[in-house]
Amino acid sequence: MELLAALENGSDLANVPELIYRDSAFIRVSPGKPINRVLDELPFPAWDLLPDFPRAYKPAIYDYPRGPVATIAASRGCPFHCKFCDTSTFGATVRHYSPRAVFDMMVHLHETYGVRHIMFVDDLFLASKVRTAELCNLILAHGLKMTWSCTARVDTVKPDILQLMKKAGCWEISFGLETGSDDLLQQMDKAARVEKSEQAVGWTAQAGIRTKGLFMLGYPGEDEHTIAQTRAFAQRIPMTIMNLTKFTPYPGSPIYRDLYGTNIREDHWDKMNGMNFVWAPEGMSVEELDRHYQQILTAFYRRARVGHHYLGMTLRNPDHALRLLRCGLGFAAAKLRSVLSGRGGLLVKPTATHLDS
Ligand code: SF4
Repeated sequence: MELLAALENGSDLANVPELIYRDSAFIRVSPGKPINRVLDELPFPAWDLLPDFPRAYKPAIYDYPRGPVATIAASRGCPFHCKFCDTSTFGATVRHYSPRAVFDMMVHLHETYGVRHIMFVDDLFLASKVRTAELCNLILAHGLKMTWSCTARVDTVKPDILQLMKKAGCWEISFGLETGSDDLLQQMDKAARVEKSEQAVGWTAQAGIRTKGLFMLGYPGEDEHTIAQTRAFAQRIPMTIMNLTKFTPYPGSPIYRDLYGTNIREDHWDKMNGMNFVWAPEGMSVEELDRHYQQILTAFYRRARVGHHYLGMTLRNPDHALRLLRCGLGFAAAKLRSVLSGRGGLLVKPTATHLDS
């Protein structure tokens, strides 16, 4: 707001705290002030300015029980320093809305827009067990009938908080599991190890919450052995949705600095989206990684247990069946258009999101 006011009044940008800006040929940094740790003084996000909100915004078919869906960032920042993660946007200082403000946002979205599921998109929703418990207790005390999903680190969950979250409508937790190799976890500067991940996912399943496992393939040090470990790990834990990213050294992450000037491919700027290998660890090629990528996902999703799970979800919840039907019809129509235009093949190359779906 201070920047906007300065631009409007034509006043000196040097007086806007914590601003990095270009001044002719120079990059200037204006002195900062302590970050406000509580965000409550900010107005609610202007959801009313989003065209056709919330109906135009649809996550993957099986990523929510009942729509419409909206997102809330209940906090900003993450104090951890995983080497692959670019935290330069929100930084390491955690700021948050109070549980009351988050609850009010949920009620507002529910009553004004009919939203029935919230996706919390915080870097680390479960940064504080106390705040999470307070939010859950508010939801339960007011009987708010909404479901929600969030992110957590495996070392921040315990059975008691998971059970409370389930009661308060938590439907899915995304855990950054990354790999089935302790060596790689250590190299990533992740504090937890595979055993901890296994325990957290087990507790989550016992609480009746679904786990979405976030994995990556191709981190420095990856080899045939670690890939086999990841594949086996993903298959033995109680998890039915696996999101596998192709390791991308994002600028801003510590690993980018380590790898800069090595064999990152020249055109990497266009391909930095987690869907392309722009770098391969020693002894492996991008083609090999791509082959493993397909194999891991295929082996994971083709299992009977996973098939039964999605069939059960589809049969139990007519919303899922409808979404699947709509997606199938859309896909068939696209295919038909492609054939009629003489191009054959698929219009859209399948992505991890499609595979999730
Ligand atoms: S991966 Fe998650 S826990 Fe690690 S630094 Fe990034 S946001 Fe924080």
